[in-house]
Amino acid sequence: MARFIFITGGVVSSLGKGLSSASLGALLQSHGYKVKLRKLDPYLNVDPGTMNPIQHGEVFVTDDGAETDLDLGHYERFTDVSATKFDNITSGKIYQDIIQKERKGDYLGGTVQVIPHVTDAIKEFITQYTDDVDFLLCEIGGTVGDIEALPFFEAIRQLRNELNPENCLFIHLTLLPFIAAAGELKTKPTQHSVKELTSIGIQPDIIILRCDRDIPEDERKKISSFCNVPFSRIIPAVDVGNIYDVPMNLHQNGLDSEVLSIFNLKQKNKPNFIKWKKISSNASSLEESVKVSIVGKYIQLQDAYKSLDEAIYHAGLINKIKVNVEWIDSELLESSPPIDYLDSTDAILVPGGFGQRGSEGKINAIRFAREKKVPYLGICFGMQMAIVEMSRSLLKLPGANTTEFGDTDHPVVDLMKQWKKGKTTQKRDENTDLGGTMRLGAYDAVLKKGSKVNEIYKANKINERHRHRWEVNIDYKKHLENQGVVFSGLSPDGKLPEIIELPDHPWFVAVQFHPELKSRPFNPHPLFVSYILAAREKSRLV
Ligand code: GLN
Repeated sequence: MARFIFITGGVVSSLGKGLSSASLGALLQSHGYKVKLRKLDPYLNVDPGTMNPIQHGEVFVTDDGAETDLDLGHYERFTDVSATKFDNITSGKIYQDIIQKERKGDYLGGTVQVIPHVTDAIKEFITQYTDDVDFLLCEIGGTVGDIEALPFFEAIRQLRNELNPENCLFIHLTLLPFIAAAGELKTKPTQHSVKELTSIGIQPDIIILRCDRDIPEDERKKISSFCNVPFSRIIPAVDVGNIYDVPMNLHQNGLDSEVLSIFNLKQKNKPNFIKWKKISSNASSLEESVKVSIVGKYIQLQDAYKSLDEAIYHAGLINKIKVNVEWIDSELLESSPPIDYLDSTDAILVPGGFGQRGSEGKINAIRFAREKKVPYLGICFGMQMAIVEMSRSLLKLPGANTTEFGDTDHPVVDLMKQWKKGKTTQKRDENTDLGGTMRLGAYDAVLKKGSKVNEIYKANKINERHRHRWEVNIDYKKHLENQGVVFSGLSPDGKLPEIIELPDHPWFVAVQFHPELKSRPFNPHPLFVSYILAAREKSRLV
């Protein structure tokens, strides 16, 4: 039977609960255990798919097509275990399921209540499909004390008794702020946070303290004594420069050995941390640097492009290249010539996006990349905008556009009303609900023999994750091919363009899917590796 580790947060949000959970998962793997990670989100949206990325950050898509919290991206990158739709749930989804059942009459005669119906549904979600792992790590979103998270805390409190206390462990992550005026680190917020947690029946077994500086023993002793947690289980987590240093940092502070000792598990074999040590040493020995300009709309919040940022970093790391990413607001490129912003760059990237605002700026950036032979990677919206750009410039169709922005004379990117998913046919129209109805999850694409992507992937068939409603209109394929555009990846039925490339350009590839979602620190995505090498070529020319 799996053992359950619950990770809660206190004092403030954004402390890195996701990273700490992912790091603990990775450490337990290094000891030879099998792990799975899950996240419970207390908000009422059914999933994050309809939320603005500037509020919520990236929407991470799983192979099976769930739109999930970005922490699942950390889990996948740190543990290399692919997440599924069973690994992230929101209050909204739980209520939706319960209310649907109630309407069907499943509770006939009964009053439907938060306790037991909501808490039972949460417990069922946490414990399902856990027989195949040694540890299930479950992160509770938000901060202790949030009203909306109470049913989650109540559910995990109940689970500890039901699963047998020896099989459950609670970790609480808090902030230790430094008050400059007093010149002191303050333990009081942590004390209050633990008090809040114990008042709802949860005594943490381990406390992780996030802090921007070393935490003196006295402060740790104080927290140990006030919060009723043994001193060795007060684990400092001082800020590190590189997120892939977090596992080793937590290990050095005893997190994994305390977890194993609480579960009465002897260290099986000598843990193997070689890959984590190697990644830290690689990160500190980057040799050359290149500049990549990302032209997007949600640049105020880098979490909006979390996986992209990571995929670029992974691709740099493997070749000892430091990639300096410059985030450019696409609206700026509508009023000023692209050269003002892109003159000194080594590569341009237009990432996924939604809506018309800033789209002309992206098109201008793509024209600049195409004409000036700057390496270009277009992702999803970045492929659709490349098609718009080339239809206008090469096919001489000034009105060409995507129907995402309204009617157009030349719908070179159009709403897909019907497509194949495995053996089923998916159907959509203008009146379909927005939530959960895009082309989502992993789909195969067939690559053209001898194309650049064929060489990059070293494969004829690939499988990548999607998240979009519009598609490049296959009716314009022949015309664009006549202008030298190569459609180097297509859906297996040949109806949906998946990849385009330009052979008379040093590196111009645009893809309909999101390759960044599959990149791993120990297995960087081949498209990003090739793209960063092309950026290096460009930088060496100058
Ligand atoms: N807005 C576009 C669509 O829905 C692109 C989406 C994306 O870039 N993920 O098709």
